[in-house]
Amino acid sequence: MSNIIQYFSEVGKGIKSLVTGMAVTGKEFVTPKITEQYPENRATLDISDRFRAELTLKYDSEGRHKCIGCGICQMNCPNGTIQLTTKMVELPDGKKKRKLDKYMYDLGSCTFCMLCVTTCPQGALEFSNDFEQAVFTRDKLVKQLNYRPEPADAAPAPAPKPAMDPEKLAQIKAEALAKAARIKAEKEAAAKAAAENAAPAPAEGAAAPVNEDNKANNQ
Ligand code: SF4
Ligand code: SF4
Repeated sequence: MSNIIQYFSEVGKGIKSLVTGMAVTGKEFVTPKITEQYPENRATLDISDRFRAELTLKYDSEGRHKCIGCGICQMNCPNGTIQLTTKMVELPDGKKKRKLDKYMYDLGSCTFCMLCVTTCPQGALEFSNDFEQAVFTRDKLVKQLNYRPEPADAAPAPAPKPAMDPEKLAQIKAEALAKAARIKAEKEAAAKAAAENAAPAPAEGAAAPVNEDNKANNQ
């Protein structure tokens, strides 16, 4: 009797397990698909910006990168993935400056820890999300990141004109003030003379003004 009970118990468990499995299958059957059809959808593939595929130097619109060749990223990389060399160049103004010569990056040994990116004082590095990096040999994973021809440095701005000597400037100012005062005085004198000339003449037949001294002598 106990064997029959055990038999039907096992059958019941089997049916319950089957129903549970079919429920999961049915649920996934009606759930929208999230599987990417790669490589058929390569043109429309949406890769997250946070995805770390390959270290790159940032370039501006003129093709310049910000790397100054300080070597901090190389020192901080735990895997020796970065090897860079620098060179001394002469600028258009005659000064010498150390610049980046070659920035070599071995993608095959990079662990994408981001230490290089976060410690770069110039913010010159970033990770691209270009994940298609398959090659046939490991040496092809070693890349020169400053691969673009660098634009020539701009010529130095012309030196500003020297300011005028303060003493000379004061002298010119004093001369200008004296000239203005002289012209003003001449104008005032001319105006006064013109006013005197324009005074009305005594009317004909009118008694001449009596000189009080002559009047006393006549008496
Ligand atoms: S990438 Fe940044 S840290 Fe590395 S050498 Fe250039 S400026 Fe320095
Ligand atoms: S991400 Fe890490 S391992 Fe890769 S180059 Fe930068 S510091 Fe080195």
